[in-house]
Amino acid sequence: MTDVHMAGETETFAFQAEINQLLSLIINTFYSNKEIFLRELISNSSDALDKIRFESLTDKSKLDAQPELFIRLVPDKASKTLSIIDSGVGMTKADLVNNLGTIARSGTKEFMEALQAGADVSMIGQFGVGFYSAYLVAEKVVVTTKHNDDEQYIWESQAGGSFTVTRDTSGEQLGRGTKITLFLKEDQLDYLEERRIKDLVKKHSEFISYPISLWTEKTTEKEISDDEDDEAKKEEEGDVEEVEEEKKSKKKKVKEVSHEWAVVNKQKPIWLRKPDEISKDEYASFYKSLTNDWEDHLAVKHFSVEGQLEFKAVLFVPKRAPFDLFDTRKKLNNIKLYVRRVFIMDNCEDIIPEYLSFIKGVVDSDDLPLNISREMLQQNKILKVIRKNLVKKSLELFSEIAENKEDYNKFYEAFSKNLKLGIHEDSQNRSKLADLLRYHSTKSGDELTSLKDYVTRMKENQKDIYYITGESKKAVENSPFLERLKKKGYEVLFMVDAIDEYAVGQLKEYEGKKLVSATKEGLKLDDDADEEERKKKKKEAFEGLCKTMKEILGEKVEKVVVSDRIVDSPCCLVTGEYGWTANMERIMKAQALRDSSMGSYMSSKKTMEINPENGIMEELRKRAEADKNDKSVKDLVVLLFETALLTSGFSLEDPNTFAGRIHRMLKLGLSIDEEEPAGEEEMLALDEDAEQESKMEEVD
Ligand code: ADP
Repeated sequence: MTDVHMAGETETFAFQAEINQLLSLIINTFYSNKEIFLRELISNSSDALDKIRFESLTDKSKLDAQPELFIRLVPDKASKTLSIIDSGVGMTKADLVNNLGTIARSGTKEFMEALQAGADVSMIGQFGVGFYSAYLVAEKVVVTTKHNDDEQYIWESQAGGSFTVTRDTSGEQLGRGTKITLFLKEDQLDYLEERRIKDLVKKHSEFISYPISLWTEKTTEKEISDDEDDEAKKEEEGDVEEVEEEKKSKKKKVKEVSHEWAVVNKQKPIWLRKPDEISKDEYASFYKSLTNDWEDHLAVKHFSVEGQLEFKAVLFVPKRAPFDLFDTRKKLNNIKLYVRRVFIMDNCEDIIPEYLSFIKGVVDSDDLPLNISREMLQQNKILKVIRKNLVKKSLELFSEIAENKEDYNKFYEAFSKNLKLGIHEDSQNRSKLADLLRYHSTKSGDELTSLKDYVTRMKENQKDIYYITGESKKAVENSPFLERLKKKGYEVLFMVDAIDEYAVGQLKEYEGKKLVSATKEGLKLDDDADEEERKKKKKEAFEGLCKTMKEILGEKVEKVVVSDRIVDSPCCLVTGEYGWTANMERIMKAQALRDSSMGSYMSSKKTMEINPENGIMEELRKRAEADKNDKSVKDLVVLLFETALLTSGFSLEDPNTFAGRIHRMLKLGLSIDEEEPAGEEEMLALDEDAEQESKMEEVD
């Protein structure tokens, strides 16, 4: 049916701009680690084989064109090419155009940025652009491919901005699958050597679950008689070489070259072997082949579940979070699901909860049906049991990591957000997850502390666990809210991750002890009777001032009360027990999706707490009592409110008026007459004026 005159026209396409940039980078930059190209291409082949095997589970005929599933490597010294052939799913013409050149993956740009930041080229696979690593060693790449739904096509490119796609009329039939031919650069011919290829497969692709065969050359010595020799010479065309002539028998020894396929990878799945017989290196190389990671895993758990339901699994924790950890566009594909050794899928959403999406591994079930569809799987009870076990084992694995401080710090830095997301989402495992949390605190110094350790340090009379939320450790550690707590020797945890706010809202307590925010209303600290009495008197003395202040501040605050929590600062602003904290208000303001109506009732109802022991407050009280309408009282109260906004972690609604007020106070301090018109420029001029400067010193 394919007539020669219909033979494919060659179409030329331009590489998408970012891909083009990536190609130049790959070609023009020196990388010592070029060998990873083979791993990347074999991994693509393995993925393509997974896809067709999965399709064939529900429709056997999909394999008809090529029933065998394999990866083959063919080095050819004569043409200086290395070909990687697979009988995978193949690509249609549209796939070729889209996948290999016109549509850039999200990882393209990220990978280039990573490279420029000094990342190693071997990271390429993690960014989903592994194919292009072919250009580390090849000057030209030809991809021949046949998909069940299309004709056979040839993609070809020497980089340089464009590629071509042509229908293949050469007559060489793949049946189904893809052949990638690399025309090696002159200085990369090493990759044609059998030894080198074998070593590379062993190093990077040992655990690929399809046979990888290498087209090997074998030379044998054979005895032939003289007359046979002539024929042989004709047949083998130079492959026969005369070695030695034996005098008596008229026979010769000749070298004969033959080819055969040699399987170069082990395929026994690692999860079927006994854990105590597997070395750390073997796990590491399995992990790398599974994930394309260039670094070893941080921790591994290999286990089997037996009984009514049986499955085996290997779970890994990576050393770092992937660049797109919380990218919701990304499909989750970190746990590969097998049924009785047959790969089923790697994007089964329900096999592990989202917060554990950074765990990589395999699960091999003996109980699921082979031809299970995604929809059936999602409702399957067996899957629910598997999921439950994966969560349990993951948490066990984390506790194991926690036994080594250095490892745990690494782990926590990369994945603490996931644990906190877990606290928020997984009510069943909340308390186990809480054990894994770590925070800086008023007593932890540079280290992090667990809640468990916090509890051991609690004061005899301390009932609750105290925490403060905020933007950073720096922003909270000197917060006025901590003053009384510190003075009483109570430790306060610093929760400075945006997600802490959500997590602690769910956690509520730990080992029966309430988690109490140092910034919310109703913080009660016990005192002895004398102290109570003294405070009560103070409180009464300040009631008038509280009232005056509320009148001045109006709607800005819910109420003004005498504080029980501050020691040094004159005042602070606290929020209702059930409303947002200042930190939450900051987070919500930053989130555009906030519903404005919700904002108004959730947004913190602020209570101003004043410190009766503070000198400023005492002075203010005197002045207010003398004259409620004293202008300086009004100014001071507003100024105190505004500085309290800042020290309590809120933002200023109107920074300009605030600045104006500060300037007025400065002038007062500098004894500059109020009548003088002094704008900002004047203030700057002040700086330069030596005479004024000396005046400033006097004031100080
Ligand atoms: P990734 O493999 O991470 O998706 P690549 O750049 O390596 O990224 O490959 C891009 C796409 O090209 C793959 O997603 C796949 O669709 C297609 N592809 C690459 N190699 C093959 C192959 N051997 N068989 C079928 N499709 C392939």
